[in-house]
Amino acid sequence: MTRNDERFRQQLEAERSELLDTISHFKVAARNKKPGLGNHMADDGTEAFDQAAGLALHRNDEALLSEVDAALVRLDKGAFGVCERCGSEIDYARLKALPYARLCIGCQQHVEENMKGNGHRR
Ligand SMILES: [Zn+2]
Repeated sequence: MTRNDERFRQQLEAERSELLDTISHFKVAARNKKPGLGNHMADDGTEAFDQAAGLALHRNDEALLSEVDAALVRLDKGAFGVCERCGSEIDYARLKALPYARLCIGCQQHVEENMKGNGHRR
């Protein structure tokens, strides 16, 4: 499978360095912020909120980064673009929009419906 792998690799690597950049910015910002040293109560409140929002984003970025890393590993193994659940090829348009997708659209919908429905039951 070599058709568009190189293209996806570039896309994934661009995404990866962007994520790494965002994550390292966040880490620097977090280090520079020392909680409890603010002079103004109102500012502290806003800052705590900003930090919480930033933290949520940060977690999201790290999760995304591990998806991107996993996709790059799949590229190396030649398993890229294959659905992890049913083994069929993932739609090209889907990969273009979401190069780190693990599942084909059908399986993705199935999984999401299961999550929506009865949570932890199998
Ligand atoms: Zn599938």
